[in-house]
Parts: sequence; structure tokens; C-alpha cells
Amino acid sequence: MELNILTLCYLIGSVTFIIGLKMLSHPETARRGNLIAAGGMTIAILGTIFLYEEQGLRLGNYTWIFAALLIGTLLGTLAAKKVKMTAMPEMVSLFNGMGGACAALISVVEFEHLMHQTRVGQAAGGGTLLIIFAGLIIGTISFAGSMIAWGKLNGSIKDFSFKGQHIVNLIIFGAIIVLSGYLIISGDAAAANLFYLVLALSVVYGLFFVLPIGGADMPVVISLLNSFTGVAAAFGGFLYNNPVMLTGGILVGSAGTILTILMCKAMNRPLSNVLIGSFGGGVSGSAGNKDQGSYKEISISDSAVVMSYAKKVIIVPGYGLAVAQAQHVCHELEKLLTDKGVEVTYAIHPVAGRMPGHMNVLLAEADVDYGSLLEMEQANEEFPSTDVVLILGANDVVNPAAKTDASSPIYGMPVLDVELAKLVIINKRSMNPGYAGIENELFFQPKSSMLFGDAKSVLQQLVAEIKTL
Ligand code: NDP
Repeated sequence: MELNILTLCYLIGSVTFIIGLKMLSHPETARRGNLIAAGGMTIAILGTIFLYEEQGLRLGNYTWIFAALLIGTLLGTLAAKKVKMTAMPEMVSLFNGMGGACAALISVVEFEHLMHQTRVGQAAGGGTLLIIFAGLIIGTISFAGSMIAWGKLNGSIKDFSFKGQHIVNLIIFGAIIVLSGYLIISGDAAAANLFYLVLALSVVYGLFFVLPIGGADMPVVISLLNSFTGVAAAFGGFLYNNPVMLTGGILVGSAGTILTILMCKAMNRPLSNVLIGSFGGGVSGSAGNKDQGSYKEISISDSAVVMSYAKKVIIVPGYGLAVAQAQHVCHELEKLLTDKGVEVTYAIHPVAGRMPGHMNVLLAEADVDYGSLLEMEQANEEFPSTDVVLILGANDVVNPAAKTDASSPIYGMPVLDVELAKLVIINKRSMNPGYAGIENELFFQPKSSMLFGDAKSVLQQLVAEIKTL
């Protein structure tokens, strides 16, 4: 009877994961989808704690289990409540890394367990060892790589590479495969220490794998690390024969893989280019920093006038809009212009901001109509017939060097062709570069005018000015 209830708990868990994931695909349902999946996860966890039995024995250790759950819940809730919207991407990377570390720890525990059960002279089961090693290697690489991604996103870690890093990486990866292969095939309990060598090498590989990747390639790597964590968790599900862990892992793994493919397409790069292309060369981020000449500025009142009397305005949101938390006042500006008969839409670049879908989430928070968001291809068709493009804290995603400068670290990445519009107003605080660390020749072009200031304050002034017209 209890076994059936446990199976039901797992079924509820698996089904809610699928429903939750489906609901996450739209901003209106995403919050509820997240709650539904979390509810299913809670049922599956409580079911395991109270109903799981092995050889007639229940889990026990309730004090330890609930103390850990309490600490985790408290830390997670506090972190999620305190985190600023702009720090969200780095927190996602950190949590992703924790998932990878959990999967790797499961492998460590189960390896020790297996080795204790294996008597001297006997060989441990190859199938189980294969799953243990797969979880260990993928989980550890995801953990170490995510820690570097976390540091890069919050600006505390810079891109780093050295000559021959590509070769060193291949050697490390080869050593991981050979050592694991030996242990899996021989099942030799006497060589158990090699397991920890594989763990250490996987940490180094994870660090070296993400450290050199910079500029436009980070979004791809982040989604790849996501899928790694999912796959590593799925191996944990295999190991414990736990259907809900398996479903969760497979869903995260496949969603991450699909996202990686979509990101690669959006960035116009094969995955191999992202992974191998950045090694050795070490994206310095300095390419393209040549003397560009001078730039023009535009005042708030002139900007208000040209937008109010335009037929068509396209707003290009970027990371700076999230930093300024200016999404609500941006929506207010959009409504004001629409009331004046101006056609206003938003051009969304797939890697604008610091996480996949960042701009969609940001604008959804301000209740911007989903229908007014244009995807990059659509927007690029609209720019030639657009009177004014208003860029709010975007930089790399509108940098024409991606199309014209083969030495640029973002060369080949599709960008928004804003320069095709009649007038381009660029709002940012200074002439500082964006994430890729390169100058933007767009700012110096004849059709471009800079509107300096924090996006929120600039938008508030624009709104006030337009109201007087
Ligand atoms: P960028 O990082 O290229 O540029 C953001 C600009 O916003 C900066 O130039 C900055 O200039 C400006 N800014 C910052 N704060 C403010 C503010 N308060 N008010 C107004 N402007 C501000 O952003 P994009 O969105 O154009 O491009 C995203 C970049 O991030 C790409 O290179 C992408 O590859 C990378 N990336 C994306 C990820 C993703 O998944 N989306 C993940 C990891 C990296 P200033 O300081 O002068 O104000």
C-alpha cells in the first residue's frame, strides 16, 4: 500500500515537472508553473523521506535530514528575496553549480558505498561504476564551470587563457576518460584513490573549459552548463532507480540542450566554435577599440519631440535597462507615445541582458504586452521603415562590428540592424563598453545621438517632457 503511495508521489512529481516546464514557456504562466513544479518536488521529497523502504528499513536520520532541509530552505529563501534583479543571472549560475555539486556528491557517496561492499579480490559492477563516473565527471565539470560563470557574470573573474590551453584541456579530458575507463572495466577496489584523481581533474577541466570563453559566447556556455547539471542529476536518478529524479534530470538536460542549440543558432556559431574557437586565442576584448572620431549628443526635449512626432518607434532594451530597473517607466513611455498615435514596439535580441530571456522577463514584469515584442529577424525587417530607435542600456547587441570587423570578439554574432532606421537615440551613462569590452562604432555614426544618463532617470524626464507636448 505504502509503496503505491510512494509511486503516486513520484508520479505527481514527474507530471508537475512537465506541466511546470510547459508553463514556464510563457511569462503569464511562468510564476504558477514554478510553484506547481516546486509543489510536486515537495511531495516527492516528503514521500521519499517517510515512505521509502529498502530491505524493510525506513530512512531514519530525521533530525539530520530536516536540519539540512531547514538550512537549505532558509538560505535559498533569503538569497532569492535579497537578490537584485540584475544579480539574478549570476544567482542562477550559482544554483546551477550547486545542482552539479549535488550530483557529483551522490557519485562520491555511492562510490564509497560500492567499494565497501566489494571484497578484496572482487571486481565492482561495471554498469554501476559507469553511472557513478558519468555523474561525477559531468556534475563536477558543471559545478566548477558554473562557479567561473558566476564570477564572470558578477565581474569578479576576467577571461583568462594561455598558449596551448586547448592542448592542455584535451590532455586533461583524455586522462579523465582513461582513468575512469580503467576503473570501470577493472572494478579494482585497490585503485579506488584514482576516483579522487578523476574528481580533481574534472574540477580543473571545468575551470579551464569556461575561463577563456568570453564576450558573446557566454550565453551558450551557460545554457550548456545547465544541461550538464540536468544530465548529471539524471545519472543520480539511474543510480537510485528514482523515477522523479530521472524525469527532473532529463527535463533539465533536454531543455538545456535545446536552449544551447537555440543560442548557437541565435549567435550564428556551431557549438564546436564556441568551445574550441575561444581557446588559445584568449578573447581579449580589445579588438575593435580603434579611434572612432566624435559623437553627437541629443537633449531630453529634442528626444521627446522626435519621438512624439514619429510614426514608428522601436525600443531596444539591453542589460542597462535591467540595471536601472527602468522597465515600468519604459512601459509608461510606450503607453504615452501610443496614445499620441505612434506605433511602438520592442526589438528583443536573444542574448540581450545577462541570461536567456532576460528582456522578456523584465518587460513582462512591467506588464508590457507580449505581442509588442519583436524577435530579432522581425525587428531587422522593421528598422528601415522606422523613424526613431531608442536604445536603452544595450550595447553589444547593436554593435555593427559583429558584421564588419573580422577581428572583433563578437564577429559573426547576428545583431539588431538599428542603423537602418532614420534616427538612433542611444541611452547609456557613459561611453564605457558593454559585456564584450569593445567599443561600438554605432555611437559615432551620423544618424546616432547619445542621450547620457541612468535609464530610469532619463525615461522619467522623457515621460515628463512628452506630457507637456
Ligand atoms: P551590454 O552589456 O553590451 O551593454 C549594456 C550597456 O548598458 C553598457 O554599455 C552600459 O553602459 C549600459 N548601462 C549600464 N547601466 C546602465 C544604466 N543604469 N542606465 C543606462 N545604461 C546603463 O548589454 P547588451 O544587453 O547589449 O548585451 C548583452 C551582452 O551580455 C552580450 O555581449 C552577451 O553575449 C552577454 N551575455 C549575455 C548573456 C545572456 O544569456 N543574455 C549571458 C552572459 C553574457 P554605461 O556603463 O556607459 O552606462
